[in-house]
Amino acid sequence: MKYEPVIGLEVHTQVKTASKMFCGCPADSFGREPNSNTCPVCLALPGALPVPNEIAVQKTIQLAKALGCQIADFSQFERKNYFYPDLPKGFQISQYAHPVGEAGEFEGIPVRRVHLEEDTGKLIHEGGESLVDFNRSGVPLIEIVTEPEFSDPAVVTKFLKELRTLLVHLEISDADMEKGSLRLEANISLRRAGEKDLPPYKVELKNINSFGFLEKALRVEIERQQELLASGKEVAQETRGFDEKKGVTVSQRRKEEAFDYRYFPEPDLPPLTKQTLRFEGKAMRTPQELRDDYIAQGVSPDYSDILVRDPSLSQGTAAFAKATRESIAGSASILINKRYGDLKKEPIEKIVSRYKVSQEKVLLTGGEIETLADKIVLDNESAVADYLKGKEPALQFLLGQLMKESGGKVAPQEALDLLKKKIHARTSTSAKN
Ligand code: ADP
Ligand code: ZN
Ligand code: MG
Repeated sequence: MKYEPVIGLEVHTQVKTASKMFCGCPADSFGREPNSNTCPVCLALPGALPVPNEIAVQKTIQLAKALGCQIADFSQFERKNYFYPDLPKGFQISQYAHPVGEAGEFEGIPVRRVHLEEDTGKLIHEGGESLVDFNRSGVPLIEIVTEPEFSDPAVVTKFLKELRTLLVHLEISDADMEKGSLRLEANISLRRAGEKDLPPYKVELKNINSFGFLEKALRVEIERQQELLASGKEVAQETRGFDEKKGVTVSQRRKEEAFDYRYFPEPDLPPLTKQTLRFEGKAMRTPQELRDDYIAQGVSPDYSDILVRDPSLSQGTAAFAKATRESIAGSASILINKRYGDLKKEPIEKIVSRYKVSQEKVLLTGGEIETLADKIVLDNESAVADYLKGKEPALQFLLGQLMKESGGKVAPQEALDLLKKKIHARTSTSAKN
């Protein structure tokens, strides 16, 4: 009997805002004492009233649009009621019947909904005690839910990587899994190959903190379910985690029937206004469109990808090009290779000024550079071969050699162009021979 996996994703991402979702507390509690970043609203003290964070709403709209969703005409917050010690109000403010966005598509997979909610506090278990830290309580979260239309774990990984790039590039979230600002849940079941109906159960894989582990967990879970079904057993509906060391999924919670969250509209918040929902923001491009733009400007595919994943680097590249009249491709290469300093550690102005100082050096004449470039290409056969195999860094190595030999007396872009020309001239003559 052949089975086909059915997989759907639920992704939570922390929205990049200055303050929390419904109060004025800073959103970022990094390095703070537990419970030092709270107020009556996020601690749910009696009488405290929530006020929605407009930036969080705008970013949710932006993301929903980028994921191809329809933006609702009517959207509101609802209370999701359940009891757990990390939830001070006894309910989470979330969205249910009227999310911000619905019915999108991303990377060929239908996106069911995109909605906004608040985070809970954090439970810390130590020395036989359970403690609660409410610093994270009320931090804005966007939830993205796909339809169950993945069947290949590798496609899940590809989707998630592209989603993370989108989140970072639109500056919606840091999407840093180690800091918990991107959290993944996958639902998985199996059906007979060719069958169209959804299986009558699903297993939720939770608390998995890397794309690699999620893909592994999905693969072993597929095996586990396959064995159960093949021997005529049923697969229980439950939540499972992944034991990274043993490489197996483990039961965490059985879900006999759906939790009754008793959703109802949040009486302390009016629905989002039409005007709010019509938020346009700046024009957004998908990561692939941006990569294509860079490639069209002569940036290599690898470097284009680095730029799209790192908004501060792509902004730095634009600023560098403007300040120095270097091309975008040249500027990107200079910054990525940290040739005049590290943008992560110093302001772009410093790097620009160091570049300008280097440009003022007396440069070698064209003939002198040619001689030097010939020598570098001859002396470094293996780097030349690597470059010809498509290894871009090999060219940077050759440039480094040339810079060293010339005492920095060549303009990097010019030198790069020349090296490429020399390499190609050599290969075309040797091909003739
Ligand atoms: P629930 O009501 O339990 O929250 P939903 O229908 O809202 O279930 O779906 C939650 C997630 O589970 C979605 O990502 C969806 O794609 C996925 N999902 C739903 N049914 C299945 C199934 N049979 N197998 C795998 N994933 C599923
Ligand atoms: Zn607060
Ligand atoms: Mg659900």
